[in-house]
Amino acid sequence: MGNPLGIVILGATGSIGRQTLEVIAAYPDRFRVVGLSANQNAEQMAELAAVHRPETVALVDARAADRFEKLSGRPAESGRGSLVRLATAEAADMVVVAVVGQAGLEPVHAAVQAGKRVAIANKESLVMAGELIMREAQARGAEILPVDSEHAAVRQVLAAVSPEQVRRVILTASGGPFLGRSREELEKVTAEQALAHPNWDMGDKVTIDSATLMNKGLEVIEARWLFDIPPERIDVVIHPESIVHALVETQDGAMIAQMAVPDMRAPIAYALGCPDRLDLPERIKGCERLSLSSIAKLTFSEPDDSTFPAIRLCRQAQTRGGGVPAALSAADEEVVAAFLDDRIRFTDIPAILARVLSEIPDQPVQSLGDVLEAGRQGADLARKLLGEKS
Ligand code: MG
Repeated sequence: MGNPLGIVILGATGSIGRQTLEVIAAYPDRFRVVGLSANQNAEQMAELAAVHRPETVALVDARAADRFEKLSGRPAESGRGSLVRLATAEAADMVVVAVVGQAGLEPVHAAVQAGKRVAIANKESLVMAGELIMREAQARGAEILPVDSEHAAVRQVLAAVSPEQVRRVILTASGGPFLGRSREELEKVTAEQALAHPNWDMGDKVTIDSATLMNKGLEVIEARWLFDIPPERIDVVIHPESIVHALVETQDGAMIAQMAVPDMRAPIAYALGCPDRLDLPERIKGCERLSLSSIAKLTFSEPDDSTFPAIRLCRQAQTRGGGVPAALSAADEEVVAAFLDDRIRFTDIPAILARVLSEIPDQPVQSLGDVLEAGRQGADLARKLLGEKS
């Protein structure tokens, strides 16, 4: 093997960032950390920097960068531009984009333009600008590796079949903590209850999105661009055990599934190690192998669209295309933040997003600037509708 792969992690202090560092640390012969960024958690970044010794550290918040310099005695870059600089750094062989929300869009785009291998845990960038990003990746020879568990699973299954054999792709959804609840019951659930996901250890935004099923709707759009599969051939099935992560149905009626314990370190390692597979359960304590007999039973059901309408909203946005998915995704960030702040009820999340969809005009997008503008409009509209609520 050659030199260790130089890796930049954007969003290093978040859930995916920390789990990525855990995988990297288990394979010092393969990987080295060349850059880390965080939004504002200077204290945690100082700890990570002491352990992983990146060449460059960035804290988006300038005051956090000052605090980091005092804590660690070493310099830190700051500002939004620092993410783009890290994502395009000469020493970066691979960029892991684990920041949350539309903040990931510009760094993903920049890394792709620089022809990097980009491991994308930030689904919003693909939802907002998937067509643009995939086209650019092809033109620049940049490789895009999904870190989202379902999409990592689809990638594994698609490797076993040729494109013309694929009839449809099926993404599984755990259904989140409120699976089986009625609309009336959902009106009373709290942010704390929504944050208690039964299977996955994830950040707040994606955990709330999982509870509303918005996460799965966004993932349908993400899959459409990642794998160039028409949206009508991407289905969703509820699978509360989160053992089967995705399936591909072939023309002859066979279904090929990818199964693994629900542990984000597995899809992270699959992206980092590509084309190899890493022996995570041998190297990392707590990374387990799947025991089918102890799981015993796997169940599947249709999503309840009338109680959890978010997947349908995402499909509508996808069908309209242009800037509409970007507007919906950016609006979702605002609405989820309002729910986490106790400003709205859980059931207001899809209700407000439905209004955003009905009020946002169709608009073509040709450039990253157009996508960002559509996102701004969606966020503004969501804030206006949230204002009417309070
Ligand atoms: Mg996922």
